[in-house]
Amino acid sequence: MFWHPFADMAAVGASGPLVLERGEGVRLWDEAGRRYLDATAGLWFANVGYGRREIADAVAAQMALLPAYSTFGDLSNRPAEELAERVSALAPIPGSKMFMTSGGSDSVDTAAKMVRRYWQLRGHPERTVLIKRDRAYHGMHTAGTSLAGIPANITGYGSLLGDIAQVPWDDSDALRQTIGLLGADHVAGFFCEPVMGAGGVFPPPEGYLREARQICRDAGVLFVADEVITGFGRCGDWFASSRFSLEPDLLTCAKGITSGYLPMGAVLVAPDVAETFWAKGVGMFRHGYTYSGHAAVAAAAMANLDIIEREDLCGRAAGLEAELAAALAPLAEHPMVQEIRAGTGVLAAVQLSVERILADPSLPAKAVSACRSQGILTRALASGGLQVSPALVIDADGLAELAAGLGLALDTLA
Ligand code: PLP
Repeated sequence: MFWHPFADMAAVGASGPLVLERGEGVRLWDEAGRRYLDATAGLWFANVGYGRREIADAVAAQMALLPAYSTFGDLSNRPAEELAERVSALAPIPGSKMFMTSGGSDSVDTAAKMVRRYWQLRGHPERTVLIKRDRAYHGMHTAGTSLAGIPANITGYGSLLGDIAQVPWDDSDALRQTIGLLGADHVAGFFCEPVMGAGGVFPPPEGYLREARQICRDAGVLFVADEVITGFGRCGDWFASSRFSLEPDLLTCAKGITSGYLPMGAVLVAPDVAETFWAKGVGMFRHGYTYSGHAAVAAAAMANLDIIEREDLCGRAAGLEAELAAALAPLAEHPMVQEIRAGTGVLAAVQLSVERILADPSLPAKAVSACRSQGILTRALASGGLQVSPALVIDADGLAELAAGLGLALDTLA
């Protein structure tokens, strides 16, 4: 029996799973032949949309040649070498080194280790504290769980990573004060989603990212941009960090790097930080995964990046940002809706009425189910908002269908 992630298996067992069979662009079909519009690009990953045969062909060709081999030590393969060159050139700080992983959670845990290890190597082992924001989601491995700002995601596991401090997600003064209270010489790094994602899609308040970046720079705290969602086009540039001139010391990514055709993640490390690890005499960084630099996955990533580049999906996303916000705006008047959060990237949340959720905590689940009945696949975020993050290939008709379907679903609940 398949034990689904993030699932109440008693409920799944009672109603049975929705088994999806096929995808094309922004559309999906289930085994019964029912068609859906995918409002979320899977779990924010299908940036180029479904049905891209050229990615499948690239993977098949690489699998026939050599599916994978270890990349520990001096071992490598051509797709991984080429991908690292390519992504390094696209990185917010060109020339960043690319450490490959199997997904976003791997990347966050890798970054957390790198941040603390960096300070050890620099002769400051007392710099251990990692700062997170409330509402944050950084994956579900041990470091990512410890860095969670969504309370339900961190409780129930006993002691996790120590030396973690939390700040409000939107208050740069609080970040400055917290670093001051802890003492900058005890703080190792600050983890920051440019747009809060799973916590509910909260775009950054005006000036917040710039101020937070400067505060970290002034205090010598490493700035880690978690771009697992925002990377590879979703915010109208290759990375949100480029759009907001963040120049992060480390950047975590995954999802859009392959558009989900195969699992991959990475940490991009700015040259001056990487130098501390790469310098002669430092020795081995004792960390890595069996599938770091997996050849067939790297081939999928290369084919995916070809599509993003050829179809200028970063530029397309930049245009879609306002179109998506405009398409959803009328829903703000709906009695079931608290607010629409949109306007940074192809990312939005239809926040359900907080009052109504308090009266009926199952409302978000009911809303998801009502959307499904209207042919719209979405899911509820931690805030009780419905996720809207379609593939970057959605067109005007798709946006109109999406907004109309959401509206009809909300009508059935009202
Ligand atoms: N970081 C962020 C910002 C995410 O949104 C996610 C997943 O949604 C992760 C990390 C974890 O990625 P994965 O589920 O690929 O492990």
